[in-house]
Amino acid sequence: MTVRQGRLVVVSGPSGVGKSTLCRRLVERLGAFLSVSCTTRKPGNAETDGKEYWFIGRVDFEKRIAENGFIEYADVFGNYYGTPRKPVEEAMAAGRTVILEIDVQGGLQVKKQYPQAILIFILPPKAEDLLVRMEGRRRGEDEQSKKRRLETARQEINVARREYGHLVVNDVLERAVEDVAKIIQKSQETI
Ligand code: ADP
Ligand code: 5GP
Repeated sequence: MTVRQGRLVVVSGPSGVGKSTLCRRLVERLGAFLSVSCTTRKPGNAETDGKEYWFIGRVDFEKRIAENGFIEYADVFGNYYGTPRKPVEEAMAAGRTVILEIDVQGGLQVKKQYPQAILIFILPPKAEDLLVRMEGRRRGEDEQSKKRRLETARQEINVARREYGHLVVNDVLERAVEDVAKIIQKSQETI
């Protein structure tokens, strides 16, 4: 019996918009596989290695780049972030829906390699909401880091409006989860 290749779903959006919260809900709801990225940034207060990210050093990260170990990678806020290739390819081969929670630079690399990928960008109801939600994550970022993340958010939203197939506003969480789940399920029916 041949198993149909699972779909690849990219979820991007500004820091603090609610991507992690949304993706966790999608995993529960769709039984999807959520990719755990590698990053060279330091873990935040409540983060655990292997859960939110694999926290690795720059030398290790660059070795994995050289070995073609990432589907995509990017420099985000001065640190490397990348999607490990093997677990994603294995989950897709097993027919599972795979979710990548990555930035727009990464999303565009995925789109080139996998033209069938579903690209979804999550928007905040209002720009000011991002700051409030960033504080809610209690990651202890300084003011400069938050400012930089807001500036990047503005640029990413402009690119996503052109390049992403779907934009979803995360106002009421339940509704946003519903919208994203429908987008994924609908695109599965059409292939
Ligand atoms: P991201 O992964 O995009 O950085 P998180 O999922 O960590 O964002 O969410 C940031 C904060 O916003 C968290 O405290 C989360 O509980 C909260 N949040 C997520 N979605 C909503 C929503 N629809 N309304 C209000 N707060 C939300
Ligand atoms: P944070 O440090 O807030 O967890 O993430 C910063 C940004 O990096 C977010 O936009 C997040 O989506 C993005 N990111 C996380 N993992 C990856 C990855 O593997 N690849 C890319 N390109 N971006 C990622």
